[in-house]
Amino acid sequence: MKNESREGGVEAPTRHPIDWKTGEFNDENSLFNELERVYDICHGCRRCVNLCNAFPTLFDLIDESDTFEVDGVDKQDYSKVVEHCYLCDLCYMTKCPYVPPHEWNVDFPHLMLRAKAQNFKKGNVVARDKILTSTDKVGSFLGIPVIAQASNVANKIKPVRKVMEKTLGIHANAVLPKFYSNSLRKSFKSKKTNKLKESKYSGKVALFVTCYGNRNEPDVVKDLIAILEHNNFDVKLVEQEKCCGMPKMELGDLESVEKLKDFNIPQLLNLVEDGWSIVAPIPSCVLMFKNELPMILNENEDIKAISEAFFDPFEYL
Ligand code: SF4
Ligand code: SF4
Repeated sequence: MKNESREGGVEAPTRHPIDWKTGEFNDENSLFNELERVYDICHGCRRCVNLCNAFPTLFDLIDESDTFEVDGVDKQDYSKVVEHCYLCDLCYMTKCPYVPPHEWNVDFPHLMLRAKAQNFKKGNVVARDKILTSTDKVGSFLGIPVIAQASNVANKIKPVRKVMEKTLGIHANAVLPKFYSNSLRKSFKSKKTNKLKESKYSGKVALFVTCYGNRNEPDVVKDLIAILEHNNFDVKLVEQEKCCGMPKMELGDLESVEKLKDFNIPQLLNLVEDGWSIVAPIPSCVLMFKNELPMILNENEDIKAISEAFFDPFEYL
């Protein structure tokens, strides 16, 4: 049966690399044309209305316009949809029948990423988002003894949260993570391990601890280490690491993603070439190395090798 006679595609979805350094990717008119095309397809479909706030925002803009069509929506309002997308990929992975190889070629999350990247280049980003996506710096500062304890207490005090809302734009009711001064990396240094003979190990696992695992959820990482060791894996930490780049990607700051990649990739590649599998406790960080970085830096063979050796714990065990 030919594609034209079906409503949507049934082939396995494919994804195109993100050519973020090309002129077309960064051209505003080209972006608006593509947003208009895809928004119009979504308007006729509306399957994703309950997935997140991006789609209801789009459909409200259309339904409240003079024409009840996408052509009635002010192009300057297109970004209101983009703001609500946090690039979870759910619409692409679970709902959309028009993803490539379907001829309509709808990749809603990657289109949102393109819009975010243009927004970032134009400087349309608030200080709060720049700060919160700098997870290495935030973690190093809020992980200092005394500051960690003080900020954990302050985050529970309503008047302080009101001030933070006014000055930083962090909602007073938003749940903020606890910071640990005794990070996972610090406590792992003093950890006693029962070393087995090399031949007895099931495999070698280097843990990419992640910013969140290191400073906000060290106990989860300790549990993961215990489970891996219980299953006779030789476990060590990736010696040095920086953020995987997911928060910067969600901001549209792809140049920072590339800089973080430049730090992480050589060390990870050495481990992979030495036979280590890499496991990270936070799913979005795994996704970054497995799917997003290979898409953003498509020509890079080192990233491809790392993505094949990078696992979510549940996938690995
Ligand atoms: S990728 Fe964006 S638009 Fe798609 S479901 Fe997730 S948040 Fe919504
Ligand atoms: S992303 Fe696909 S499934 Fe979702 S509303 Fe748009 S066309 Fe429909």
